Amino acid sequence: MTTAPAAPRQHLPTPSAPFETHRPWSNWGGNQTATPAFTVRPRNEQEVVDTVRFAIREGLPVRAVGAGHSFTPLVQTGGVQLDLSAVSGVTGTDTGRRRARALGGTPVHAFGDPLWEQGLALSNQGDIDKQSISGAIATGTHGSGIELGSFSSALRWVKLVDGRGDIVEIGEDQIRELRAAQVALGTLGIFLEVELEVAEAYHLQEQITYPTWEETLSTIAADIAGNRHYSFLWCQSEESAGLYELPTPAGLSMVNRSYTKRYNAVHLDEAGGAIDLTEGRRRDRSYRIYPGGFMIPFHELEYYVPAEQGIEAVEAVQDLIRTVHPDQKYPMEVRWVKQDEGYLSPFYHRDTTVISVSGAPGTDYWPYLRDVDRTLQPYDARAHWGKIHFLTRDRVAQLYPEFDTFVQIRREFDPNGVFLNDHTRALLA
Ligand SMILES: Cc1cc2nc3c(=O)[nH]c(=O)nc-3n(C[C@H](O)[C@H](O)[C@H](O)COP(=O)(O)OP(=O)(O)OC[C@H]3O[C@@H](n4cnc5c(N)ncnc54)[C@H](O)[C@@H]3O)c2cc1C
Repeated sequence: MTTAPAAPRQHLPTPSAPFETHRPWSNWGGNQTATPAFTVRPRNEQEVVDTVRFAIREGLPVRAVGAGHSFTPLVQTGGVQLDLSAVSGVTGTDTGRRRARALGGTPVHAFGDPLWEQGLALSNQGDIDKQSISGAIATGTHGSGIELGSFSSALRWVKLVDGRGDIVEIGEDQIRELRAAQVALGTLGIFLEVELEVAEAYHLQEQITYPTWEETLSTIAADIAGNRHYSFLWCQSEESAGLYELPTPAGLSMVNRSYTKRYNAVHLDEAGGAIDLTEGRRRDRSYRIYPGGFMIPFHELEYYVPAEQGIEAVEAVQDLIRTVHPDQKYPMEVRWVKQDEGYLSPFYHRDTTVISVSGAPGTDYWPYLRDVDRTLQPYDARAHWGKIHFLTRDRVAQLYPEFDTFVQIRREFDPNGVFLNDHTRALLA
């Protein structure tokens, strides 16, 4: 019996939006790489929807990429990598309700001027402003301030494309879905547009000090409670400050000393020339004060412990560094974040002390980071989803009381796992 040869396929299907095939990708830290079949750069909402539908038709998984500033394998896919950097911009503000809407690919730094012109500002920001707003929300990105929540906690509405290729809006009247969307690691769908609760525009006054560890401890309770933003970077060696490019006074030993930041709101008359750009006592619009710049790469782990145990946990990590890992030189950063409601938020129902440590790229920092993980486990430490961590599904399920609710909602939004990759499947499938 003879069979007719299959007709050759004329063209392999391709996305309708601009795309490249097999383009190597790596993250900011250089510790994550991928070669997706398609890297697609939609120019508008419809092209995002079309790309997700294309992927569903072709049986390809989809992962969104923001600014690539996560250290964990969140973005990797062999299927479609969706880069929303061209779907960007603040789309509206409501000064009375203190709300701002922006497209999913908008970088954090692009909120500053348009919000300020409407008398508004982001309530808080982290150490950099390079992230996309959707990437920041996806991982619970935060700044510091015991009265201030993460970017995720400010999410009030989102329009996304789900795993069926449908556009879905989630607002405050769907509280269960909103709490899932607030920290979702990109697994509910592709965020097209978000609405954030924001603050009235405010200026900040910076104060940088260099206390010894004993001096840091003697004022810490008052500092946490009394400053809008309080954080410090503890240095274990003379080399530490340089690794994070911290400006330090000449001749001062930084061993067992902190680089301490306090930011407080201040009333300024910009026209009267009250802006001060002097390092260590800058006064300026809030969004110009927050972002630092990191040029020297590092690979960071960040864990979250209950605020009431924060200092004990910090001292446990200091002891670990001094006694077991004196070769590890990067500073330890310590910050505070207010509790919130996101089901997968590391700050879920818990005012939090944030402890971050880093290893040097190209060195074997794994024994150190594993020891930090072991040291902080007794404090029920949760972890930054975008920074190195050792959480397994079992640990996540124990640490997050609403884990099962999140998984259920994830399955409702993406029943076929279009938005999963190996990392997120292992944690959240
Ligand atoms: C130098 C540096 C400084 C940092 N400082 C801080 C800090 O101060 N505070 C802090 O908390 N973290 C900080 N981080 C971590 C960083 O904020 C997070 O990893 C954040 O998620 C990165 O955002 P991104 O836009 O780069 O997203 P990516 O890393 O590209 O992606 C993160 C997640 O967002 C998802 N995603 C992106 N876009 C979309 C979309 N449109 N729809 C759905 N999902 C989407 C991705 O799929 C992925 O799961 C820092 C990281 C670096 C490298």
